[in-house]
Amino acid sequence: MKFDKWLNERLDKTKEAGLHRTLRTMNTAPRPEMCIDSQQQIVFSSNNYLGLANNERLVNAAGTVLHEFGVGSSGSRLTTGNSKWHEKLENRIASFKQTEAALLFSSGYLANVGVLSSLPEKGDVLLSDQLNHASIIDGCRLSKAETVIYNHVDMENLEEKLKETGSYQHRFIVTDGVFSMDGTIAPLDKIMSLAKRYDAFVIVDDAHATGVLGENGRGTSEYFGVFPDVVIGTLSKAIGTEGGFVAGSKVFIDFLLNNARTFIYQTAIPPSICAASYAALEIVEHSKEERQLLLSKVKQIKTSLEEIGYTVKGGHTPIIPVIIGDTQKTVTFANRLQEKGIYAPAIRPPTVAKGESRIRLTVTTDHQFKQIDYLLESFNLIGKELNIIK
Ligand code: PMP
Repeated sequence: MKFDKWLNERLDKTKEAGLHRTLRTMNTAPRPEMCIDSQQQIVFSSNNYLGLANNERLVNAAGTVLHEFGVGSSGSRLTTGNSKWHEKLENRIASFKQTEAALLFSSGYLANVGVLSSLPEKGDVLLSDQLNHASIIDGCRLSKAETVIYNHVDMENLEEKLKETGSYQHRFIVTDGVFSMDGTIAPLDKIMSLAKRYDAFVIVDDAHATGVLGENGRGTSEYFGVFPDVVIGTLSKAIGTEGGFVAGSKVFIDFLLNNARTFIYQTAIPPSICAASYAALEIVEHSKEERQLLLSKVKQIKTSLEEIGYTVKGGHTPIIPVIIGDTQKTVTFANRLQEKGIYAPAIRPPTVAKGESRIRLTVTTDHQFKQIDYLLESFNLIGKELNIIK
């Protein structure tokens, strides 16, 4: 009783601030139109950018291996959890990312935490973009190195911080490739030049860029034609499955296998998921037209919303954040969208800064143009109703 009372008091504060979160139940496979709880909704908030999460080739690939290898991997990779499918997928990821080697983790979150908590040592410094993902922040917190934050994609500020940190032993610049809440692309070409000038290493979390950016979907490295020291990614967004990975040199992967605690002490992902991911990468590399189509939909949505008076961030990635500002108004906006059959949840502090609450839209190759038209029409109506646009 005492325990629950204490927690209820804490939760009440969250509720009073309008920041309480609850779960919704997806009653259909991931696709643009889904049954959520008991209501049909057009979903504009999924990371299934290329529509692969429910792709038949992936489902069949997983199904075949599922029957052969069972549902669980039964142990960590270093004990009984390693299968030929884990190795096949790692080799495939390395060739996709054009690195010597790759290592699977159970999630992108754990890949970030694993790298950042093991690679930098005491006496080193991590220079981290202000808007980096929570898993990078947590990785930095677990690291024995110090962390210095630079302003979001601000290269002058990063250079200042590099000048100020000359006395540290090793320096690491760590950045999202595509920022999950703003949809901005990190200027990786400029970051690489600064790293070269100031003798720093570069770590990129390409969670949202993998499968989306670059001619062959290899991510921000391909988009800018550069090769960072460490590329981290997830299979859970455009690739459509589950799991995280790190791609880099052979010696770095060997280092992680021996030092990253989130690799060593975690049960391996199931072989069936590796097989589905392998099938996904075969598709992703040949999805040039789909990527172009995706980005043309992004452009249509962003331009149309700006034309009717909204402030929209991002621009060249499927993440389209529409800034509403006030938290309560953003929640009301999301509820009104839902009443109209559109699912695009409100993103509020602490996920984003105070006063920057937003509706974070994401678009996928599967969205039909009539669904996009309906979205734009609804934004026009609700925006006027709530006095956000004229
Ligand atoms: N990095 C970024 C930028 C992300 O947006 C996410 C997922 N929200 C992750 C890492 C974590 O990936 P995963 O979902 O595979 O744990």
